[in-house]
Amino acid sequence: MPSIITHSVVGIFWASLFETKTNKIKFWFFSIFCTIIPDFDVVAFKLGISYEDFFGHRGFFHSLVFAFIFAILIVFLFFRNVKINSFAKYGLIIYFFILTASHGLLDTLTSGGLGIALFSPFDNARYFYSFTPIKVSPIGVGAFFSERGLMVLKSEIIWVWIPLIISFLTIKVFQKILYALKTK
Ligand SMILES: [Zn+2]
Repeated sequence: MPSIITHSVVGIFWASLFETKTNKIKFWFFSIFCTIIPDFDVVAFKLGISYEDFFGHRGFFHSLVFAFIFAILIVFLFFRNVKINSFAKYGLIIYFFILTASHGLLDTLTSGGLGIALFSPFDNARYFYSFTPIKVSPIGVGAFFSERGLMVLKSEIIWVWIPLIISFLTIKVFQKILYALKTK
């Protein structure tokens, strides 16, 4: 996995682009929470479930189907004040789906461990993207503050943080230009 920090950076990026006026704190919290929830499956190791199993690390909980179910749950449990069957409700489901799915997709860019069961439960094969520039993060906080941890962070900054920062700035500049043209 890329580190929890880098998955969260994806959440921060999306939340700052789509920030809502109502439900602000919940929106920010779940934007970040969705990007890290799939890695809670490391508990599987403690429960004796092996890495390659259906519920093993990078298994079902890293899939697109899980991302979709999780997004629906969050919106129906925590955003009840948003009108059912409204554009906002569907928009929120798609938004949290993309954020949760971003985790597994980002993991396919890592160079280590087993692949990601993106299409579970229909296809339990583990996938990597053909290009894997991100160094796989050690599991556990202690291991993260090591030389290897720094190498991981460096690859994540290059391949995730910098592209996101550039995208963010580009979008903001375009928004400003569009706004200026509109109010002319
Ligand atoms: Zn992961």
